[in-house]
Amino acid sequence: MIDPVKITLTEAEIPRTWYNLAADLPPMAPVLNPQTGLPLEPDELLATMPAPIAAQETSTERYFEIPEPVRQIYAQWRPAPLYRARRLEKALGTTAKIYYKYEGVAPTGSHKPNTAIPQAFFHREAGKKLLVTETGAGQWGSALAFAAALFDMSAKVFMVRVSAEQKPYRKILMETFGTVCVPSPSTETEAGRAVLAQDPDCPGSLGIATSEALEYAMKNPNVGYTMGSALNHVLAHQTVIGQEAMLQLEKAGDYPDIIIGCAGGGSNLAGLSFPFLGSRLRGGPRVEIIAVEPAACPTLTRGRIAYDFGDTSGLTPLFRMHTLGHTFMPPPVHAGGLRAHGIAPLISRAVEDGLMKPIAMAQTKCFDAAVTFARAEGILPAPESSHAIAATIDEAIRCREEGTSQTILFGLSGHGHFDLSAYQQYFAGALTDDALDEEMLQRSLADIPTPVGATQGIE
Ligand SMILES: *Cc1c(COP(=O)(O)O)cnc(C)c1O
Repeated sequence: MIDPVKITLTEAEIPRTWYNLAADLPPMAPVLNPQTGLPLEPDELLATMPAPIAAQETSTERYFEIPEPVRQIYAQWRPAPLYRARRLEKALGTTAKIYYKYEGVAPTGSHKPNTAIPQAFFHREAGKKLLVTETGAGQWGSALAFAAALFDMSAKVFMVRVSAEQKPYRKILMETFGTVCVPSPSTETEAGRAVLAQDPDCPGSLGIATSEALEYAMKNPNVGYTMGSALNHVLAHQTVIGQEAMLQLEKAGDYPDIIIGCAGGGSNLAGLSFPFLGSRLRGGPRVEIIAVEPAACPTLTRGRIAYDFGDTSGLTPLFRMHTLGHTFMPPPVHAGGLRAHGIAPLISRAVEDGLMKPIAMAQTKCFDAAVTFARAEGILPAPESSHAIAATIDEAIRCREEGTSQTILFGLSGHGHFDLSAYQQYFAGALTDDALDEEMLQRSLADIPTPVGATQGIE
């Protein structure tokens, strides 16, 4: 008898709907227009979003139907496998059960195509010819490039310069799909030129790349702007992960006590945990949810809850969220991704309401954990995902010490086959845990805008 290791589902069990956590939470704070300080009108969203996406963004419906052409494409890699990490459990000598939901089976190696595909689909239906976006480490850019190719569209991706230099292969992958990848800050936009005038060697940030992509979309009516994380509709698209995991655990006769995910903008963590959280909010079992972020970009653990922009130049509306300030720049030595200054408002809200616990991890500890995991399970994790692994190992060791048997489910959001240079640096001892530049953090926190006439009582 083989002990079950991989829990699979059939194609018929690919979810038919996306889940929207907003349906099960008290009303969210409105998104504000920065010029007026007033809540954004639904029409204003239509400037950058096709109608079905704008509707999802503001909806409090519990489920959105997944269009059949999107499900058909999902079927190439979904349902994604759920693994029981038996060899890792053994290596740790833990009394805990560890499961992981593996999104690295998607064509571009992470969970990002779960939302790239529907976004490309809806933009294509709206008649757009070209998609534009920003990317940090490049997983989102490659997912969008893949999606654009499937819908016969072209795409342009502004990629954070330091990542483009560290990860040249991601750029080549995008080019293979027919996408143009531009290191950001670039000379192609006013936002990029303004940054370069101040600092010609600027390593770039997700905030700057977002400003460039948005400016490009706003100036070209044929161009659709897409976003890889943080927005409500993106989080909803990712809930195929958690819905499948729930069904898979049911088949395994289990239910998680603890769910762990890494958090950059918050989309893979939301995708895995929101279906379970929704069930809890509707009277289901209690589950502890842990959001793991890098110590180098500690949005949830050291940021403020405030209204702030999603980009550096202030082109986006104002979102109420945990933020380090839209001018925050993570230290260039940081190799682990997850470099966003702000986080998804729905994740921020879950943390504020005590439904989710945030922790920050130093990068060397995450790489230690990634190597332990790889040696036991044979999968090389993305540096981002290694944050979830480090926290999982801590919890598994706690269970061993307490002699308790808890069920841990973590999100393995992607593989690290394009991140070998980060592993190389780690093995060479070149990755350090430099403390955050406190002065820089205080400066960027001080740059958080106070919206005109913003609701009193909110920072
Ligand atoms: C993009 C990415 C992340 C971080 O983004 P979230 O929106 O927080 O999920 C994490 N892991 C991988 C593999 C990614 O590609």
